[in-house]
Amino acid sequence: MRDRNFLDSIMEFEQQLETLQQQFNELKKFVAHMVEEHQSLQTENFHLRRRLEELSKATEGTSEQGEKKSYLDIGEGYDNLARLYQEGFHVCNVHFGSSRKGEDCLFCLSFFNKNV
Ligand SMILES: [Zn+2]
Repeated sequence: MRDRNFLDSIMEFEQQLETLQQQFNELKKFVAHMVEEHQSLQTENFHLRRRLEELSKATEGTSEQGEKKSYLDIGEGYDNLARLYQEGFHVCNVHFGSSRKGEDCLFCLSFFNKNV
């Protein structure tokens, strides 16, 4: 009788190990996915920062260069930033490029108000 219980316990334990192994594999997949996403976000962030720098320079040069070209650049940049905000990221210089976590940001909104 005691042997029987012991065998049951061993088998139960084996099953728990298998379940744990499965969960661990899921976790590994999840982490791999997160790392991938993190890298692509970093790349995106890098490009966006560079784009913003270009735009800032273009804006600074407005008075010296042709007005029409700069105006177009700013319009395109504005659309990109508006889309970025819609996708859930900050476009304000306080938190630029980080996730809004589903909340509206007053800095971002005031940025848009200034640029409308
Ligand atoms: Zn913001």
